[in-house]
Amino acid sequence: MPSCVVLRSFSTTRTPLAASAAARATLAKMVQPVPTERAAELRDNYDSIANQVKAAAEKRGAGPTVSSPSYSAADSNQVDGQGPHPQPRLVAVSKYKPAGDLLALHEHGVRHFGENYPQELEAKAKELPRDIAWHYIGTLQSNKCKMLASIPNLFAIETLTSVKAANQLHNTLSALSLPRETRLNVFLQVNTSGEEQKSGLPALSRSSSSSADGPLVDLAVHILQKCPTLRLKGLMTIGSLEASTSDAPNPDFERLKETREALVAALRAQTGGAEQDDALRKAVDEGEEEELELSMGMSSDFVEAIEQGSTNVRVGSSIFGARPAKW
Ligand SMILES: *Cc1c(COP(=O)(O)O)cnc(C)c1O
Repeated sequence: MPSCVVLRSFSTTRTPLAASAAARATLAKMVQPVPTERAAELRDNYDSIANQVKAAAEKRGAGPTVSSPSYSAADSNQVDGQGPHPQPRLVAVSKYKPAGDLLALHEHGVRHFGENYPQELEAKAKELPRDIAWHYIGTLQSNKCKMLASIPNLFAIETLTSVKAANQLHNTLSALSLPRETRLNVFLQVNTSGEEQKSGLPALSRSSSSSADGPLVDLAVHILQKCPTLRLKGLMTIGSLEASTSDAPNPDFERLKETREALVAALRAQTGGAEQDDALRKAVDEGEEEELELSMGMSSDFVEAIEQGSTNVRVGSSIFGARPAKW
């Protein structure tokens, strides 16, 4: 089969790879498959985490509805807004792991993968099936925005912290020769633990009157008003390791929830002001139909995170095994 089949499935996020056996065969040739024992191990690990996610969501009870991305029809075991216990999205964090590992999980039905390094994400996105919904979860440098925004099946940037980067993303998306069919989801990263070495914008607090402004509110307003190719999807935190290993409710997760509340209040206040902005009001109204998401929880604390309201957990080592010492 001509290679244009592959190219075509690259061009539209709606075409499931299954639609093209030829494309699948081509991809399978490019990616080194893992031994069957490794594939089985990955499936078992993933299923075990997915079951824990489900149990934690049930324990939490009906939470905010999380809608599935419009283009991943095959996404049945991932995000589901329907039913009394909406499932948080489980993102398999695959940094440093070979493409064969991801392909084995993809064959198991997994679609949401998270990566920390722009080049690694770009390379994997090229060789792996086009119906993967990629999450960029690494530190976002504005000189990498163009490349990231050009990946057609990028589902979300979870680490946006600046107007400059938002503009770079928006400018790239506006100029794509093949425009995306959906807006690019962005999560604003919040430094809930206040640790100097963590990136993220300062958290907001419910009570403080100063929460109506500040960089987080400014960035949210900027996206809603000036970046129609972006969709303000939610807030993200990494949190401190210390907090994640104690028994008490994780204060980082509480702070992210509180920040969401304060942000929504601030956005509402802005649209209610004398100088009403139609675009902003529309965006806020639209946003209220679907609550802003909370991306929080990793291998060590995703169960607690879900119990505290997470809608998006990012789990790496518990699925793929330990990473090199740097991590
Ligand atoms: C690596 C990473 C994860 C996954 O961490 P694990 O502890 O391996 O589950 C989640 N979120 C971010 C931002 C990461 O960098």
